[in-house]
Amino acid sequence: MINVVVVGGGWAGCAAALAAAKAGAQVVLLERTDLLLGTGLVGGIFRNNGRFTAAEEAIAMGGGDLFVAMDANSRHRGIHFPGHSHASFYDVTTMEPLVKKILQNYGIDVRSRTRVANVVKYRKKIQYLVNDNDEIIQGDAFVDTTGTSGPMGNCLKYGNGCAMCILRCPTFGPRVSITAKADVKEIIGKKADGSYGAMSGSCKINKDSLRPELKDQLEKEGMVVIPLPENLKKTGMLGKKACSQYAIADYAENIVLIDTGHAKLMTPFFPLDALRTIPGLERARYEDPYSGGVGNSIRYLGMAPCSHSLKVDGVDNLFCAGEKAGIMVGHTEAVVTGLLAGHNAVRCCLDMQYLELPSELAAGDFIAFIHEQMTTEEGLRLRYTFSGSVYFERMKKLELYSSQRGEVNDRVTKTNLTDIYNTCLV
Ligand SMILES: Cc1cc2nc3c(=O)[nH]c(=O)nc-3n(C[C@H](O)[C@H](O)[C@H](O)COP(=O)(O)OP(=O)(O)OC[C@H]3O[C@@H](n4cnc5c(N)ncnc54)[C@H](O)[C@@H]3O)c2cc1C
Repeated sequence: MINVVVVGGGWAGCAAALAAAKAGAQVVLLERTDLLLGTGLVGGIFRNNGRFTAAEEAIAMGGGDLFVAMDANSRHRGIHFPGHSHASFYDVTTMEPLVKKILQNYGIDVRSRTRVANVVKYRKKIQYLVNDNDEIIQGDAFVDTTGTSGPMGNCLKYGNGCAMCILRCPTFGPRVSITAKADVKEIIGKKADGSYGAMSGSCKINKDSLRPELKDQLEKEGMVVIPLPENLKKTGMLGKKACSQYAIADYAENIVLIDTGHAKLMTPFFPLDALRTIPGLERARYEDPYSGGVGNSIRYLGMAPCSHSLKVDGVDNLFCAGEKAGIMVGHTEAVVTGLLAGHNAVRCCLDMQYLELPSELAAGDFIAFIHEQMTTEEGLRLRYTFSGSVYFERMKKLELYSSQRGEVNDRVTKTNLTDIYNTCLV
């Protein structure tokens, strides 16, 4: 029996665990908090722009379970909002238990409140992990999907960290990078001004704190755009955003609210007093993170150097995915890379050649492009997503973007990768 251990239960870790289980491994997924999905607990937007293509590629390759679950749990579908087409919004309040059930149905041992605190290596291989109760967790291959935020101290050092951020670091103990513990030097992303990290700019507003007519409109239409008066337009804040797909003028000139179960505010760093001067938002208050008016979740502080197969450089049995694998933003991006890392962890145990996704597929081109960009100072200041900014432009230029399911299926068929993630390798 092959044992794969995945550390970090965000979207990337859930996808890695799923792919490893489908490929025939016995899988343990370790998550330090009491909830899976990590930063996915506050997002919700998917299938927008090129994320549609990437999701359909993964489905055609046999790794569709998590996208099917997001689809089934969507509050709104086919929504157009500034700069984005055919978006769906999953319900962030009910997504987590559904994902947990799916993983458990595949026989994955999901262990929440299990924080990995140390890594024991022999030569170039991880032997076992140690959690903060001093328990040993053994495996043949490991996947690092711990994200890139680091502990609370990092937030305070590199950005407007918020002690009550989504990942609740002080409650469950700091995040620990398995890659760093395995003595690999990590890569740090930068903001446009050259300072370290990147800040997420979207926050949740409690829906009941909106004026009832505004809440009704939001629930009916899925999103609301409210033009801002001249004195509240803050174009300068856009450059700080982690999600560069929303760093466009529409988000500085308007309040854009999205219904993900909460009212997701797409405008960065709006102080509460200013927000409350806008009609309909007079009683508004932030939910998680409560300090939404200042910022939240400084990220991209510790990425693993890795190959296109997502094997971490310098460690023979360690893979990575999601934000850990490069400056990528998004649930879709985390799932697509998670599937590849989990699948390759099983190949590693079987001494098989690793799978690399070809450049004819958006996911393959995306991974190779990010890795190339991360070798330059300029590239480290950008963020990459299928849904906007530099990478979506590239997708369109290379004709990799498609919103037609049949077209994407044909493309996957041509690469001989149909159902690859459904294939038991053991
Ligand atoms: C406010 C906000 C809004 C967003 N909105 C969207 C959106 O609408 N759509 C979208 O596509 N993307 C959105 N994103 C981006 C998206 O959420 C992330 O890019 C993606 O989900 C990252 O997934 P991940 O699995 O790589 O990492 P994370 O979500 O960071 O997950 C890492 C997990 O690892 C766990 N962990 C860390 N250390 C350890 C350890 N030592 N032991 C055990 N577990 C550990 C953490 O607790 C966490 O659960 C948003 C991000 C934020 C912050």
